[in-house]
Amino acid sequence: MAHIVTPNPPSREDWLLQLADVITDPEELLHLLNVDPDEVLRAGYDARRLFALRVPRAFAARMEKGNPHDPLLRQVLTAREEFIEAPGFSTDPLEEQHSVVPGLLHKYRNRALLMVKGGCAVNCRYCFRRHFPYAENPGNKRSWQAAVDYIAQRPELDEIIFSGGDPLMARDAELAWLIERLAAIPHLKRLRIHSRLPIVIPARITDMLTELLGGTRLQVLLVNHINHAREIDDDFRVAMARLKRVGVTLLNQSVLLRGVNDSAPALAELSNALFDAGVMPYYLHVLDRVQGAAHFMVDDETARRIVRELLTRVSGYLVPRLTREIGGEPSKTPLDLHLP
Ligand code: SF4
Repeated sequence: MAHIVTPNPPSREDWLLQLADVITDPEELLHLLNVDPDEVLRAGYDARRLFALRVPRAFAARMEKGNPHDPLLRQVLTAREEFIEAPGFSTDPLEEQHSVVPGLLHKYRNRALLMVKGGCAVNCRYCFRRHFPYAENPGNKRSWQAAVDYIAQRPELDEIIFSGGDPLMARDAELAWLIERLAAIPHLKRLRIHSRLPIVIPARITDMLTELLGGTRLQVLLVNHINHAREIDDDFRVAMARLKRVGVTLLNQSVLLRGVNDSAPALAELSNALFDAGVMPYYLHVLDRVQGAAHFMVDDETARRIVRELLTRVSGYLVPRLTREIGGEPSKTPLDLHLP
């Protein structure tokens, strides 16, 4: 009889060790990928001053060797274009640097967004929060308690979104502390976690985290952030299977990025790879106009054309909703695919 080999679940320390060993030097990253650093202009190195380079080795291992245009590399490599101050691009494109209590944004009626932690395992060059003043939102028990008190007094809230930075940068014991207090608020029904950690360091899905998310009375949704099919590997698929077994709803949001995923075939491949991993495509965001990221911009007309073509390539349930976030609006704004 054939044996089914199940990979060992990651120990608690694995992800922390990987986090302590991320790549921060563009030269080292390019060297690992056999890409000549001289092909990347020196000015690109200086872009670290604008926003640090930070890449987990487990993510770098999925990049194609010898390809300076690899779509995973492009998402994380500093570029000289980041110095361009494009008109209409700002440091706070969503006008969200106004917390109701430190770290808590009550942007929408029924849901509030809690910035659990400021840091991330990976720094994505297109990130709309690349200029966010995380230092003002410390992400500790004192600020979380203030957020819990605010939430407890707002019966209109039924869902809390853990965001950041990356909320899964918090240790399991910290998350347990926070989730326990939220679960004790009777009007809350759901907990949504927006995170890129499960894809860049799949070992983040520890035993304790799995038990925690499966054991709370709150309905838990994990919204991954994956932009390209090649980000998905076996370790990620195993991590998602573990979460699915304990009842976590698995979704994905992507950003439409020039040079990364701006074609219908690339997005079709991504949707299929997500579904194979048990994850449903949810949102495809047009780029938020954050200073330093204009070189990733795909215009609305092209975005609509790509998604219309995507509809002909995959089943309807694999087509994410094309949306834009506009600061101050009461919800995200879908783009009308019927416009030219
Ligand atoms: S992981 Fe998310 S919050 Fe962190 S840099 Fe990337 S896009 Fe921004």
